[in-house]
Amino acid sequence: MLDKLDLSTKAQELRELLGEDANSPVDIFSLANQIDGLTLVFYPLGENISGMCVRDNEIKLIAINSTMSYGRQRFSLAHELYHLYFDDESGFNVCSKRLDPKSENEKCAD
Ligand SMILES: [Zn+2]
Repeated sequence: MLDKLDLSTKAQELRELLGEDANSPVDIFSLANQIDGLTLVFYPLGENISGMCVRDNEIKLIAINSTMSYGRQRFSLAHELYHLYFDDESGFNVCSKRLDPKSENEKCAD
């Protein structure tokens, strides 16, 4: 079950971890570039994929569909950061461009 309070707390925790205060606007692209060991790539991923996240003990990789609008790329990067930091279900996520709800895990990332 989706717990919005818990998700909000996770968002605050991540902001703190990355050196941001609770409410200021963030440049999520420069923030992500500061994450140790993260490879961030922008690539045309086609009509259906918004982003991808791959992670294990050695790899942290986020790919964002570079053909989407700037605003949508920001959203997708935040979404993929959820997978990177909080998603325990899988080490490999390919995320749909569709905004209509999907799995619980994808809803949490949104
Ligand atoms: Zn996702």
